Amino acid sequence: MYKRSTFFAAVLVTTLALGCGSGGNAGNFNLISIEEEWQLGQQLSQDVARQVRFSNDSAVNAYVQQMGQRIVAQTSEPFNRLPWEFHVVDDPAINAFAIPGGHIYVNTGLIAAAENASELAGVMAHEISHITARHTTEAISRQYGISILASLVLGQNPGTLSQIAAQIIAGGALARFSREDEREADELGIRAMARAGYDPRGMAAMFRVLLAHQQSSPGRVEQFFSTHPTTEERIRNAERRADEVGQSAGMITDEPQFQTIRSRVA
Ligand SMILES: [Zn+2]
Repeated sequence: MYKRSTFFAAVLVTTLALGCGSGGNAGNFNLISIEEEWQLGQQLSQDVARQVRFSNDSAVNAYVQQMGQRIVAQTSEPFNRLPWEFHVVDDPAINAFAIPGGHIYVNTGLIAAAENASELAGVMAHEISHITARHTTEAISRQYGISILASLVLGQNPGTLSQIAAQIIAGGALARFSREDEREADELGIRAMARAGYDPRGMAAMFRVLLAHQQSSPGRVEQFFSTHPTTEERIRNAERRADEVGQSAGMITDEPQFQTIRSRVA
């Protein structure tokens, strides 16, 4: 049996030899392969787990898991075949975030703020798409050089891993996405959620809910807006894209199971 670390070192060297990571758009700076990303995610998620409090409501967790897996099944190869994990964070702030390797975190505050199932699906599809578009690893690639990145993937730099986890949770620079990243995550997300059977208008509707909260309780949405720039123009674009994708009979806008779990976290 070969050593796992040797395998990932070899993958890293291959990636470098090819000049860029796989899966990203041309011109995007990404030094990490998808295999390495999933390895990194396993370690980062352990750091996140030490820094947040998870909801232990099994009904809420089961619902979020099921919705997440349903959307992930509609993403492109190889993401639809990889293991993803969906975590419910016990926190009233209206926020959700993604870390490399298919780990998506949704706060109970966001579930409570969503008016229906398609709005929650919209945020989840958006976060999932930050992963499939390789945005989270691009950010790490930009910030850290190749030697640090290699040691992170190999688990040799636990201090830096905890720092990265803390930064992402707090909505720091590493978790900030550009307008272009947001546009791409919206577009991919709207298509994935529609294919999964959720009303694609839910994404823009959730952004409107978030904007409304910015007026009434700005502190609760601060983290989300600092990491996901949201403008009126962006919302209108998401609405237009949802119209292009179209709604079909049987699509889920809301379902009783969502209202049940929403009442459990309210
Ligand atoms: Zn975003």
